[in-house]
Amino acid sequence: MAIGPNVYDAEPIPDSARTEIEHLLNSGDLFRYTASADSPVSLLEQEFAKRLGARYAVAVSSCSAALFLSLKALGLPRDARVLIPGFTFAAVPSSVLHADCIPVLCEVGDNYRIDMVDFEARLKDVQAVIISHMRGHTSDMDSIMALCNQRDIPVIEDAAHSLGTTWHGKNIGTLGKIGCFSFQSYKMLNAGEGGILITDDEEIFARAVIMSGAYEHNWKKHGHLLNSFTRWQNKLPLYNQRLSNLSAALVRAQIPELARRVRDGRANHDYVAAHLNQCAHLHVPEALAPEERAPDSLQFNLAAFSEAETLAFQAAARANGVPVQVFGLSTDNARAFWNWQFIGEIPDLPKTRAMLMKACDIRLPARLTRAELDFISEALLSAVDEVKTARRATG
Ligand SMILES: *Cc1c(COP(=O)(O)O)cnc(C)c1O
Repeated sequence: MAIGPNVYDAEPIPDSARTEIEHLLNSGDLFRYTASADSPVSLLEQEFAKRLGARYAVAVSSCSAALFLSLKALGLPRDARVLIPGFTFAAVPSSVLHADCIPVLCEVGDNYRIDMVDFEARLKDVQAVIISHMRGHTSDMDSIMALCNQRDIPVIEDAAHSLGTTWHGKNIGTLGKIGCFSFQSYKMLNAGEGGILITDDEEIFARAVIMSGAYEHNWKKHGHLLNSFTRWQNKLPLYNQRLSNLSAALVRAQIPELARRVRDGRANHDYVAAHLNQCAHLHVPEALAPEERAPDSLQFNLAAFSEAETLAFQAAARANGVPVQVFGLSTDNARAFWNWQFIGEIPDLPKTRAMLMKACDIRLPARLTRAELDFISEALLSAVDEVKTARRATG
């Protein structure tokens, strides 16, 4: 069993976090609304909104909380139907249920992007859409926004794993009405847990702020939108999904690292992808033309592999030191829609299912060196050789 590069560990938190955290430890000032102004959470909201090019941001306890609050902030009635991709993380249908809405799944193609024919067909009786930029893959946002705008259907972007990606040069998360991001440890900015939503819509912002837990007049610490906030005062439930100052201090210290993480993550991805694409049995789908990616992982499809060969490939890659996840083949995988039994009846999505049975997933953090990337490419390419040669040998 070869030992490959460690792809699971996060990067160390930059030293610049220490001064702020030391201050928080000394003062005990961990709650975002204790200080009269400029708490670390408020500063994070201002910096994040400015950086992404959005008017408003609300920091919350997770991206799941951000998705839930987005649906609530849109004022969707109970049992509203919300279209989501059939390839996403279980947190997405869960947030829809949490908001008392009904998830409607649509097909995803073997390039990991929403199947636009199926998307359009399912739009007719939905009241909102959540687009998951799953593993940072951007679906055809031009068509999605045009179809949804024609029908006045609000679009929420689940950009949990897509921070730093752009579409026609515009930041992902600013294309729809609301964009949601995660600060969980596997994402671009790591606070262990946390999330943030961004929007240009003053009413949605005011509603999300209050429902996130800005009780009494704490909304005054979110800027000067007096009319919007007083309109919703005492009219909305307080779900208390706030972020703590400690988490915000951790995220803020990493914002200066973002450009480097995006640049190196993209270079690493493209380097390994070019190697894998030289093998006829492996295929890394191309990004759509308007997309500039910010990957921290790599997905590729196995071409002309039986299920037995796929399992043999996985075992060979593991023995070579590189664990590969095939979304549809691991038991209870949270990204395989047939495991979302909590949503009730699970639809038949043959395209998405076929993709999940051959789509391989490896982590590829920005901190990896060229030698480590070469190790990974070699491990995968020789795993293919082992499986396909063995097959020829046994006829
Ligand atoms: C991680 C992730 C989420 C959930 O984020 P949390 O902050 O853990 O709630 C949702 N959607 C996608 C695509 C993700 O990658």
